[in-house]
Amino acid sequence: MKQITEAIYFIPGQDDMIPDSHVYLVGRPDSKDMTLVDAGLMGKGTYKVESIRKTGVQLADIKRVIMTHTHLDHIGCLGEILRAIPDAELWVHKAEADLLEQGDERAVYGMDMFQSMCQAQYGIRPGAFMFQVHRRLEGGETLDLGGTAWEVFHIPGHSAGSIGLYNRQDKILIPGDTVYADYAIGRFDLYGASGAQLRDSLMRLANLEVNFLLPGHNRMMEAVPPGYILETAKQWEPYLK
Ligand SMILES: [Zn+2]
Ligand SMILES: [Zn+2]
Repeated sequence: MKQITEAIYFIPGQDDMIPDSHVYLVGRPDSKDMTLVDAGLMGKGTYKVESIRKTGVQLADIKRVIMTHTHLDHIGCLGEILRAIPDAELWVHKAEADLLEQGDERAVYGMDMFQSMCQAQYGIRPGAFMFQVHRRLEGGETLDLGGTAWEVFHIPGHSAGSIGLYNRQDKILIPGDTVYADYAIGRFDLYGASGAQLRDSLMRLANLEVNFLLPGHNRMMEAVPPGYILETAKQWEPYLK
């Protein structure tokens, strides 16, 4: 766990055979209006909750979980975390919200083969990832999260309902699995994915001034060089159709 700014804690994923997504705890602690961005892999709920406790933030002050998207490595332990903070709301982009409410797990697993493998290996029953969504995000709105302003970008490509959260004041981007450090990008071969959309989404993010890049996996970046996302998009462009 690491404090990145006054209003962001970084709780690194604990990768297993399957990666566990990072979690970001966002908001000024004195606001008592804290937000978790993403949850993580199945079985990681206790680790995530313990990490939150170590920040000193009260669990009761966590008012919502915002999903950058609903893949298994991000939503797997959402149920475990919500048992510790049962009053927290769930905010998801509208392109993945209906699936989640209907228990349609195509977006969670991404492909059928992965679904049967995970259900067998982790003993997950079909329909385990059915959640009520309290707010459907669209992209274009600005959220006040505990006294900090975050613009929502709908950036499909890695998944249909992927979002990025951008804090313009401190130039912080939380891009989910759309772009990582080391010129890496998210895969674009799963359910609802599209290489062409991913290219367009990267180009939109490339317009933002980014100082901190806080992705869903791997290392985070501080002092991101200017043009980093544009350069990443250019390197991948031949594959993104
Ligand atoms: Zn993903
Ligand atoms: Zn991921």
